[in-house]
Amino acid sequence: MSDNTDAQLPQDEGLPNPEMEGPGLFGDEPAQQAPEQLPATQQDQAASPYRVLARKYRPTTFDDLIGQEAMVRTLRNAFALGRVAHAFMLTGVRGVGKTTTARIIARALNCIGPDGKGGPTADPCGVCANCVAILNDRHPDVLEMDAASRTGVDDVREIIEATRFRPMQGRMKVFIIDEVHMLSRNAFNALLKTLEEPPAQVTFIFATTELRKVPVTVLSRCQRFDLRRVPQSELVGLFSCIAEKEHVRLSSDALALVARAADGSVRDGLSLLDQAIAQGTGQTDADGVIGATVISDMLGLADREVVFDLLEAVLTGKPEQALALLDAAYARGADPGLVLGDMLELVHTVSRLRAVPSLRDSADMPEAERVRGTHMADTFTVPVLMRAWQMLVKGMQEVEAASDRRAAADMVLIRLCYVADMPSPEDLIKRLSGAEGSAGQGGTAPSVGASSGAPSAGTTSAVLASSVSAGHQPPPLRMVSGGQSVSAAVPVAAPVPMPSVEPQALPHPRTWREAVALVKDQKEAILHGQLRHAAHLVSFAPGHIVLRFEQHVPAGAAQELRKVLDRATGMSWRVGLSEEEGEPTLDAQGAEIIQFRRKEAEAHPLVKAILKFFPDAELGEVRDHGLDDYGLPPEEPVPELLFAPLDAEFLDDDERPYDPGMSPD
Ligand SMILES: [Zn+2]
Repeated sequence: MSDNTDAQLPQDEGLPNPEMEGPGLFGDEPAQQAPEQLPATQQDQAASPYRVLARKYRPTTFDDLIGQEAMVRTLRNAFALGRVAHAFMLTGVRGVGKTTTARIIARALNCIGPDGKGGPTADPCGVCANCVAILNDRHPDVLEMDAASRTGVDDVREIIEATRFRPMQGRMKVFIIDEVHMLSRNAFNALLKTLEEPPAQVTFIFATTELRKVPVTVLSRCQRFDLRRVPQSELVGLFSCIAEKEHVRLSSDALALVARAADGSVRDGLSLLDQAIAQGTGQTDADGVIGATVISDMLGLADREVVFDLLEAVLTGKPEQALALLDAAYARGADPGLVLGDMLELVHTVSRLRAVPSLRDSADMPEAERVRGTHMADTFTVPVLMRAWQMLVKGMQEVEAASDRRAAADMVLIRLCYVADMPSPEDLIKRLSGAEGSAGQGGTAPSVGASSGAPSAGTTSAVLASSVSAGHQPPPLRMVSGGQSVSAAVPVAAPVPMPSVEPQALPHPRTWREAVALVKDQKEAILHGQLRHAAHLVSFAPGHIVLRFEQHVPAGAAQELRKVLDRATGMSWRVGLSEEEGEPTLDAQGAEIIQFRRKEAEAHPLVKAILKFFPDAELGEVRDHGLDDYGLPPEEPVPELLFAPLDAEFLDDDERPYDPGMSPD
């Protein structure tokens, strides 16, 4: 019987305490404990097993940390002044150097210098026993824990227990807790007491990607450092250094692609560089350089140049070219969704270049972006770029949802080309406005003002200008073309002369309409309705009105009207009824006016042109802001139709981007 074998083993073996099997609480990774003690760069590469670049070139000093100058400065000051915090919170995206920083701090706290007599220093020596042990992840006092796998209160209790003992080998016990936001609430509470009064020889270093999930009570007891994403230019510099040390040559475009894909994370970038070196071997050009094509293939990206070519093709409306480019990229293994993503990013870059011209000198901008991007920024207007952006965003969603991604991407490109082929409303309006002016149509505000010297005309253009600038435009035309709904702010705005008819200011109505308006002002809603919809004026003179009511109007209506007018005006009115036909009701007259306006709008050359270019477009509701409550024009003659300002765009007002490149109107 050997049923006791397992249980007896530990005692029999008499294991030495510090060694643990597998990843313990502060689990070290056995694979890391490579026998070599030499600095990485001096190793004989042939003899030692391959180590990934991220590990091999992990920074060991503050100076090696790239892109975190502010934090390094603060830490250096703290060490110089001997005022190092007992708890740190390092936050930032993954792979930006949080645990690396934590380990450097641990060494800085524990370094005793080559002679064994040094104190805490911001420049740990790297050769003393403490430095070497920490570098190799086997210092008994520097304990690293991943809160993602150890979230419970018991795990934290273990730490708290450990803080009660003096350091075994070093000067300071350092607890590095990664992904600290994963700790449970109880675990945080347990930790809090220790954080409030940390033992003198204990330092906590927390790292997290999600600072918001860390309780404020914990945060407030830590010195906090936000590690920033490493700028692309610095990544390029680092990767090029490392490639050189590895005796690998990558083109600058290739390095830029790796840096771009790294998205600010040194670790991610180095993993990509690892892959690139592995895949690039044997794919180098004649000079032994790994080119951008290898990298873009590896990343599933279209070649950078291809992305530029593609965007240019769609923005200039060349579908054959665009589709051929996508086919070629697809054949080389590029993912259609990623290609669109690249185009989207390029639209963003070009828009930024247009908005902030100084970016053109930025070192962060790769060469291709700077040269071709600048050219595109000068060629395409912001509205065109915005339209491309919106369509690409939508297109990417379609590609993600499609069963055939490639076909979906094709459709997106075709649609972009199709839209590019259409003149922008801006151009259209500019062109037509010019033509129209020479044809003497008098469609613009200044020509109205010039055509008649009457004061009313002056009022008209002034009012129009103010109504436009105040945004009182009628709703934009809704253009529906090719299944793509585009909203166009091409308002068919009628002139807006302020009606000189101000019923409340005129106690003695001079016209039938004014009389009815007066009834409305008197809050006689029912009577007002009857007058508006069912009363036909036969004759009107101040003080004497003759009407024909429609059949359904109650007999007392005329009498009632008389009373209301008497009361409101203080004079005596007579209201007679007649069998004569009389005028149409006010309501019917208003409807006629709108019909008339609609015909006018449809006949306008600009509307005609729009309908020709956008065959599926429809003329929406036509509103005439010059009409009064009854849909009727004021006494003055009605001027010509007027149109939107020249800078009217495809976009709704609230979507319209700020474009410093375009002159504001
Ligand atoms: Zn040292």
